Amino acid sequence: MTDRYAVLGHPIGHSKSPLIHSLFARATGQDIAYTAIETPLDGFDDTVRAFRAGGGRGLNVSLPFKLQAFEIATDPSERARLAGAANCLKFEGGDRIHADNFDGVGLVNDLQRNLACPLAGKRVLLLGAGGATRGALLPIAAERPALLAVANRTADKAHALKRDFAAHTALQTGGYGELSGQAFDVVINATSTGLSQDALPLPAGLFAPGALAYEMVYGKGLTPFLKQAQAAGVARVADGVGMLVEQAAEAFHWWRGVRPDTRPVVDQLTVPLV
Ligand code: NAP
Repeated sequence: MTDRYAVLGHPIGHSKSPLIHSLFARATGQDIAYTAIETPLDGFDDTVRAFRAGGGRGLNVSLPFKLQAFEIATDPSERARLAGAANCLKFEGGDRIHADNFDGVGLVNDLQRNLACPLAGKRVLLLGAGGATRGALLPIAAERPALLAVANRTADKAHALKRDFAAHTALQTGGYGELSGQAFDVVINATSTGLSQDALPLPAGLFAPGALAYEMVYGKGLTPFLKQAQAAGVARVADGVGMLVEQAAEAFHWWRGVRPDTRPVVDQLTVPLV
């Protein structure tokens, strides 16, 4: 029997998740159907309930519902709990709703496996203090970077992360101005400026020699952040397509117990950075 999965979001028409999961299913011989469901802003709980009542086995959750996905979970993972957000649900065990957040592990897998950029001993900077950064902090900290820093336009939101994650990792937090005089080996843009095309106020000297500049937004070519990095002499730039595919692979494995090969899917979805 075909098992049903879906991604919920608003808007969701642009989502690559149905394509990614159908490629995974074909490659691994799994019998699943995966659709995108446009979810009314006030209809998240009802949509989840209806999908589940119809026999649905699991859901990916996109913006703006990741906080609500966490709230309806009966069994959230530790990383979903710390992020306060979930991007994946699994229905099993009576009326249990298991929730996890694979965005951060997807990012780390992309950096380390696909981009050959180990994080151990590196100075890592996250720009932005929203849900994507929250989800990324634990998986990055687990790789033991020399320094993990968060800079955000609203500095108080970065400082709040320092408090929330204090039991798990040390964080340097602040606004962009406080980055002056510091250099980082890995700089990750986890703001939404890749979509809005705004430039960030990054100080000169932010990128250490040989640094990697990583833009979480994907499929937009060279975003203002990546252009800034290139103008600062950075040769290694990447966008978030690998993160997207890697988080999907974690979800697929969680649901189906089979780990798909991500490389051909990343290659198929990559938009050149020009
Ligand atoms: P979010 O919770 O809405 O946070 C947005 C962040 O961007 C905040 O830190 C905000 O700063 C900052 N920001 C927005 N406009 C800005 C501007 N003009 N100048 C400076 N900072 C600005 O969003 P999110 O969920 O963290 O997602 C962030 C981005 O990551 C999104 O674009 C999303 O598409 C991408 N993402 C990609 C993947 C993937 O698989 N590749 C997964 C998750 C997310 P303030 O706090 O000061 O407002």
